[in-house]
Amino acid sequence: MKDYFKVDEWKIIEDGFDPHYNKVAESVFSLGNGRMGQRANFEEAYSGDTLQGNYVAGVYYPDKTRVGWWKNGYPEYFAKVLNAANWIGIDVWIGDEQLDLAKCEVLNFRRELNMKKGYLKRNFRARTASGKEVEVEAIRFCSMADDETGVIKYTITPVNFEGEITLTPFIDGDIVNKDSNYDEKFWDEVKKEVSHDNGFVQLRTKKTGFEVATAMKFTVLQNGIPVEFESAPVQKEKYIAAEIKLQASQGQSITLIKYAANLSSQNYGADELAEKTADILTIISNKGFDTMLAEQAAAWADKWQYNDIIIEGDAAAQQGIRFNIFQLNQTYTGEDDRLNIGPKGFTGEKYGGSTYWDTEAYCVPFYLATAEPKVARNLLLYRYKQLGKAIDNAKLLGFKNGAALYPMVTMDGTECHNEWEITFEEIHRNGAIAYAIYNYTRYTGDEAYLADYGLEVLIAISRFWAQRITWSAERNLYVMLGVTGPNEYENNINNNWYTSTIAIWCLKYTLEVIGKVKDTKAAKYNELIGKIAFNEEMECERFADIIAKMYFPYDDKLQIFLQQDGYLDKEQILVKDLPATERPLVQKWSWDRILRSVFIKQADVLQGLYFFEDNYDMDTIRRNFNFYEPRTVHESSLSPCVHAILAAKLGDVDKAYEFYLRTSRLDIDDYNNDTDDGCHITSMAGTWMAVVEGFGGMRVKDGVLSFNPLLPPKWNAFSFQVGFRGALLNVRVSREGINIKNTSDQKITVKVYGAAHNINANDAVLVKSNEI
Ligand code: BGC
Repeated sequence: MKDYFKVDEWKIIEDGFDPHYNKVAESVFSLGNGRMGQRANFEEAYSGDTLQGNYVAGVYYPDKTRVGWWKNGYPEYFAKVLNAANWIGIDVWIGDEQLDLAKCEVLNFRRELNMKKGYLKRNFRARTASGKEVEVEAIRFCSMADDETGVIKYTITPVNFEGEITLTPFIDGDIVNKDSNYDEKFWDEVKKEVSHDNGFVQLRTKKTGFEVATAMKFTVLQNGIPVEFESAPVQKEKYIAAEIKLQASQGQSITLIKYAANLSSQNYGADELAEKTADILTIISNKGFDTMLAEQAAAWADKWQYNDIIIEGDAAAQQGIRFNIFQLNQTYTGEDDRLNIGPKGFTGEKYGGSTYWDTEAYCVPFYLATAEPKVARNLLLYRYKQLGKAIDNAKLLGFKNGAALYPMVTMDGTECHNEWEITFEEIHRNGAIAYAIYNYTRYTGDEAYLADYGLEVLIAISRFWAQRITWSAERNLYVMLGVTGPNEYENNINNNWYTSTIAIWCLKYTLEVIGKVKDTKAAKYNELIGKIAFNEEMECERFADIIAKMYFPYDDKLQIFLQQDGYLDKEQILVKDLPATERPLVQKWSWDRILRSVFIKQADVLQGLYFFEDNYDMDTIRRNFNFYEPRTVHESSLSPCVHAILAAKLGDVDKAYEFYLRTSRLDIDDYNNDTDDGCHITSMAGTWMAVVEGFGGMRVKDGVLSFNPLLPPKWNAFSFQVGFRGALLNVRVSREGINIKNTSDQKITVKVYGAAHNINANDAVLVKSNEI
């Protein structure tokens, strides 16, 4: 798959059509604006291999759980991101032949995702069975400026004939989710309407009762000039269309501009949806395609101004990072605290619900540095609001006293995962939620958050850990039994070092925050402990006792933390000795073989060393990295970025670079052979971390931002932007040194390689390489 897409600094380009890669391309070229999004399906019919996908943020369906063997504690439903009405469809007939690239001869084909301006463009020339040739150009985007809308400009030109061309723009709500457990359709029709140049379908989700009106309005141009046209309405169940027959002359273009809107009852009353969609369509069609495109480019220019990372001298690396940043911005804009960042964003159905620990562990740092603090705060508040459900989840598993277990995956706070090894055992996710609170306050300095929301979550999480550990009389220590660490290629293990480490860290941090809030906001503190019946003396004592007596697996000979008890009993073979034909293991090996093997899916011990690096010296980090890295297959997209950051910290720039490329081009190059299902959106924030925290060496300590940059030999320079406590910095690392420009009106002190530098408002500092 490598090299399928062309390298370009601002675009993703597919030159030539290979149906075999169509689903991968549909994922990679996905579009979104935080509110709605879609895979890059074709406008016209396509009978080849495709995964159809249109999504409306926050609209989900609780599909009844389907498992082979029911276990007590399983959630009854799995809330899925729903495949929503298809609004891009334009059926095209050339005489009596349907335009379908699976049936025509494709003479040339080019798809381009313009990341700078935020649109997708497709050009092709095709020949029908009877020999008629057409040239098509389709440009479309989900508008950032009007985020409930999208628009398509579809132009078709007969190359070697004249005759009738029929264009039928449609809205089709009669769609299925590929991952539906019982082959059920999830939408019911509420109403629909179609007239001369517009129409809508309003649908309601079964069970959850979300209503979404999807509407279209269109204009027709011939040779670029708007023309009057006749249209014949078509109506079927959950479907409306308007059939437009036009006489086409050779070499003369016909253009259909299709404006579309998706409005949901999350934001409007269900009875006003139809009217509101009509209003919005009037607004955008009055603007017209060109103005909308100009606004789109302006909205993206604004995003890039704060988010862009520039890599000089390495176009593949540049394309990779821009693609990641582009997709992150398409997925989540931070404006709505009911929304979150699904591992596949708007690029596929896989993973169902929207929220995993990925958000806290990987995405929060990206939004902290590249957006207003309220964006990361919204992500934290999302979890705060779901605390009640996290307590219910824990109760379902037998925990009490307000202990909270946040779900492995959720839409509304209810656990949706239903594999016992993960649902019940991959509990380290609880720690990531606490870690995000720590990360947010550390970065923003917003300590008020702790008293207002954070501490309540921390106590509930700590109460969970305090009940989840077991006293081992044998060891005379507490142990953590029956868990799955981040490495999901091991299940039901005892004493996963990472899980125990983050659990103990949570308890320590909770005690620290209790002290802080008690000292600074006593009234708030008392109100909180009353509300949650927190027995301070007894519970804090219990937390402290566990902290003092926790068991962590360690090997004295190798001087490394053991991923879990008994890890060294496994046959110690390395990834480099695995034949390429056997990878990815998850697709080639039986589960039994994977579980018994030494191979690690994703950073596990190393994830802990990344989070808690300040607690370990360099030699410890190096020994563990050198041991675990050669055993890691990176079959989770979340893995290479952590390795890149640690490799950079250890000064191994080549390794860091190798991991960086892998994380940043994971989907473009389809490294794990799974991009057809959708892109790995949450790990894209990890890619950003690989540059900023890895090569940039950016950290925050005691309220001070510091940098320890490292320049990969292949790069001439790289630069990135970060916002920090009101200041806005542009950091450029080149062979000459590190140049930090403060483009804000606020002065700041930063550290570069340990030395403090004051940078005044709108001023810069240059730390020359020869002075370091
Ligand atoms: C990873 C998890 C992750 C999930 C969603 C899995 O493959 O092992 O750590 O949360 O994907 O990205």
